Amino acid sequence: MLFKCVILYMSIEIIKGANDMPTENPTRATFMLFGGTGDLALRKLYPAIFNLYKKGSLSTHFALVGLSRKALTDEEFRAKIIESISSETDDKAQAEEFASHFYWKSHDVTNTDHYKELGKIADELDQKYETDGNRIFYVSMAPRFFGIVAKNLKEQGVLSTNGGFNRLVIEKPFGRDYASAKELNDELTSAFNENQIYRIDHYLGKETTQAIPVIRFGNPIIEAIWNQNYIKDVQITLAEKLGVEDRAGYYDTAGALRDMIQNHTLQIVSYLAMDEPNSFVDTEIRREKVKALESMEIYDADGVKQNFVRGQYGAGDGTPAYRDEPGVPHDSNNNTYAAGKIVFNNPRWGKTPFYIRSGKKLATKTGRIDIEFKKPIVDIFAKGTHQPAELKSNVLTLLIDPKIGITLEINTKNSAQGMHTETVDLSYLQSDARAAEVPLPYERLFHDILKGDGTYFASWPEVAAAWKYVDPVQKLWDTTQPDFPNYESGSMGPKAADELLARDGNSWYFPNK
Ligand code: NAD
Repeated sequence: MLFKCVILYMSIEIIKGANDMPTENPTRATFMLFGGTGDLALRKLYPAIFNLYKKGSLSTHFALVGLSRKALTDEEFRAKIIESISSETDDKAQAEEFASHFYWKSHDVTNTDHYKELGKIADELDQKYETDGNRIFYVSMAPRFFGIVAKNLKEQGVLSTNGGFNRLVIEKPFGRDYASAKELNDELTSAFNENQIYRIDHYLGKETTQAIPVIRFGNPIIEAIWNQNYIKDVQITLAEKLGVEDRAGYYDTAGALRDMIQNHTLQIVSYLAMDEPNSFVDTEIRREKVKALESMEIYDADGVKQNFVRGQYGAGDGTPAYRDEPGVPHDSNNNTYAAGKIVFNNPRWGKTPFYIRSGKKLATKTGRIDIEFKKPIVDIFAKGTHQPAELKSNVLTLLIDPKIGITLEINTKNSAQGMHTETVDLSYLQSDARAAEVPLPYERLFHDILKGDGTYFASWPEVAAAWKYVDPVQKLWDTTQPDFPNYESGSMGPKAADELLARDGNSWYFPNK
């Protein structure tokens, strides 16, 4: 009797904690991947899962059910998996063993019977692979399906009820404004708790983004001066060299503001601007990120006009204008470039501006953060009896991609005779050999999902704050006529984006340095 009571007590504890608790040894789970033969799944998701498997984060106790309307046999699906991971391994036997964990189910997301069948398959796989009933539902489909999948998973009984965890992974975009994002979130949270939902933002899987909290909070010499007293301005650049490619159908309805600023850029802003969390756990970090995002000053229409710039690329570099790209309407007013000045209403940042920009068909592909520090209040060298010298701002640069690295530009004495100053770079650039070992963003994110760590996923309050910030900008742009195209392909964007900084006496550090 006593034994039975102990078992019952333990079972209750497991069920209570099952959906929330981070897992330390993430080796057991059944994945259900909606959009199982889609572009993202084949190019990014399966190689990421394979790398986890190869490195031992997934053991033999996992299975994956691929789902879409296509009729495939398990063997046909497994052949696609082997092809998809071919660049990650030469070991045929290992690839085949990995693929043997994959199953195919033809599934229409609107058909409730299909979910019932899926629930049965999941139960069988739980048994066969001893996955402890842990289930990860990854929705890699068009956003209009996110809500219906979540709802049916719950209503048709696909969620694990035997003590395992249930985690829902949602691809981007998460809404197209605050109202639609809230509607989507309401649908998701009617089936899953917030702490079971993992909103993917692959920029949060990048090495440099993940390093920001360590660079800041692990180095008192940096964190001590991380405020308006010492920082003149912060600049974030996410520049693409490519144009719209074959994504016109999606991109022409989104634009740079929705596609790059609302999510990736503002997420990076939140890690740079947040206060120090009490500890490095997801709940604490999210609390501080939200506080930072909610203290951004939301502009009225005049504020948007003064502080945001939009652009669309014209022809240049021997390539066509955006309006002449396949699938783009000839009169499209979509923004392929967006820049803005963020001001925080909080004691840390006061009037220190964060300048952000992102665009397509720019001069170079780069993701970077340049933090410009203030110059000394008195430049004693300029007043000296020796050669007048101009001190430059110290600049800390965090390189996100394609290179990963950190540089710090400081003033020192030029070695020539007399008092001349010059700037030098203290620089750490990750070697190609080391960079090749860096896990891919999706690999890191899958690893965190298995562990139940939400640190590098966007929480709903963060997503909501970002949309509330961006909505007035999009609204003004939707209701006023732009003068497009306004920047040449291969340039660094519209002149108005330079003027935005010039009005404050600033300029883009990159590439003008
Ligand atoms: P895709 O069009 O290549 O794949 C979508 C999948 O959904 C296909 O497998 C299709 O068969 C399936 N599907 C469509 N209707 C269905 C239905 N009624 N029932 C069942 N299955 C159905 O799309 P993708 O490019 O792989 O993108 C997937 C998601 O990832 C989207 O949310 C997208 O915004 C996001 N995303 C993609 C990329 C990328 O590089 N492809 C990058 C970032 C984000």
